[in-house]
Amino acid sequence: MSDKHYLEWPFFEARHATLEKELDVWAAQHVAHAHGDDVDAACRQLVHQLGEGGWLRHAVGDTIDTRAICLIRETLARHNGLADFAFAMQGLGSGAISLFGSAENRHTYLPRVARGDAIAAFALSEPQAGSDVAAMQCAAVRDGDDYVLNGEKTWISNGGIADFYVVFARTGEQPGARGISAFIVDAGTPGFGIAERINVIAPHPLARLTFNSCRIPASKRLGEAGQGFKVAMATLDVFRTSVAAAALGFARRALDEAMQRATQRQMFGQVLADFQLTQAKLAEMATGIDTSALLTYRAAWQRDQGRKVTKEAAMAKMHATETAQQVIDAALQMFGGLGVVSGQPVESLYREIRALRIYEGATEVQQLIIARELLKEA
Ligand SMILES: Cc1cc2nc3c(=O)[nH]c(=O)nc-3n(C[C@H](O)[C@H](O)[C@H](O)COP(=O)(O)OP(=O)(O)OC[C@H]3O[C@@H](n4cnc5c(N)ncnc54)[C@H](O)[C@@H]3O)c2cc1C
Repeated sequence: MSDKHYLEWPFFEARHATLEKELDVWAAQHVAHAHGDDVDAACRQLVHQLGEGGWLRHAVGDTIDTRAICLIRETLARHNGLADFAFAMQGLGSGAISLFGSAENRHTYLPRVARGDAIAAFALSEPQAGSDVAAMQCAAVRDGDDYVLNGEKTWISNGGIADFYVVFARTGEQPGARGISAFIVDAGTPGFGIAERINVIAPHPLARLTFNSCRIPASKRLGEAGQGFKVAMATLDVFRTSVAAAALGFARRALDEAMQRATQRQMFGQVLADFQLTQAKLAEMATGIDTSALLTYRAAWQRDQGRKVTKEAAMAKMHATETAQQVIDAALQMFGGLGVVSGQPVESLYREIRALRIYEGATEVQQLIIARELLKEA
């Protein structure tokens, strides 16, 4: 049973503790168990369940309560990584519409996302533009009341099952980051295609997308022409702290599993937890988890105060994802051979955590952001 004392920290209001408690009960009943081998079907079902449960409402809208989405991601990640993924992508995929969409686009898409009736995706990365987002080549050319898109995107979560994609493309108003715009592309639009599905170590829907003279009404542009980089960064700014929260959820689950194993596994006439070497590991794991929680909820609280969180969100994301990797590795080690058996919770966590150190800005990118902010302050 995870330590819940952190809910009494001054970062939270009473409604946050209630939210966490209710979701914990709901998640244990609805999403704690595997949803079969078909990852597309599992994701669709999870989105539907999360919509029906009312949880997706927290991921869309004018004012996103960062502490709430962090608590939701942490709790879902503790129960089921794919449930966390399904929740996170509804938020990230529709975030640019929440923040920059016209009244019509907000009305068309957001209620369906919140009910779990439409699946969302966020298409920024390209084969030659991952960390270096501004190097993107996918282009959109204005043609009357439309834009015509050509190019490709890769590593797109929910690629293949999404009903719509928020796509970033070069519109050329100015060079580099100042010549990009954001568009909503519906899955059935002629010229849009799934070029390839990508299998990863923790399976979830992921694809490379192609755009071949794909015609999008200008009314589906999000924000001003040439402001797409700002749209992308503002969206990521909301959700980056929640990646830290997901890592925290994985780490808490790993510590729960490790505690259970260490207090039950008999060896050398005692249990694993009786050895001081084990106790030192458990102490390091618990301390790492608390420092991650402090950084995560500081960033979330600070954003909810309407303050800038560029440095704090980067610190939380870097520390929580790196620490979770170490905590999960230590937990797996305590399980011995059992730890690497497919389907064991620690084995799934070991695969699940890895990509979080890469996406939404790899650890090295977070380091650069933190240092840049420090130097600016100096
Ligand atoms: C499972 C998964 C899901 C994803 N989902 C999405 C999605 O839904 N939408 C989307 O748009 N993208 C998505 N991505 C893409 C993700 O954001 C990119 O993979 C990430 O930005 C890194 O880009 P890259 O893979 O091209 O690696 P590169 O940019 O080639 O970077 C490789 C490595 O170089 C290092 N590095 C980077 N910059 C520096 C630097 N300045 N100095 C030193 N080292 C550096 C880092 O260790 C990095 O991991 C997803 C990726 C994964 C793995």
